[in-house]
Amino acid sequence: MFLWWPLWEFVCREAGDILDKTDRWNGCFNQGHYISKRKASALAERLETLLRRRVVSAEAGWHLRRARRERKKNCRVCHGRRVLVQRSDSGRVRTRCHHCDGTGRRRGVVKFRTAWIREFASFCASSGGFRID
Ligand SMILES: [Zn+2]
Repeated sequence: MFLWWPLWEFVCREAGDILDKTDRWNGCFNQGHYISKRKASALAERLETLLRRRVVSAEAGWHLRRARRERKKNCRVCHGRRVLVQRSDSGRVRTRCHHCDGTGRRRGVVKFRTAWIREFASFCASSGGFRID
């Protein structure tokens, strides 16, 4: 499974001429917008070209580096302290930060992968048109 939003953003940027404004906009919502067979085939072809030309791997590399930089930053909730201190009637209670699982660092999730585009291109090619939902 992949993150849809960064993938769709990439598709709109690199294959925006295949999609019309309604496709691009409605692709952001899971409301059953239909992409025709002709457009799906064109998207598959375009994505295969972008994979061959290493445009996709360059994008994936950018996202990977970004995620790695994020992982070096302090957690937004505990600010690197790894614990949260809460006041209660019996005094202060220290609990492991639930946001970072006590690592003190941000998660740095990778939001775009080459494999996802490969999978999506193959899906587009065989879909015969598809609904976004
Ligand atoms: Zn934390």
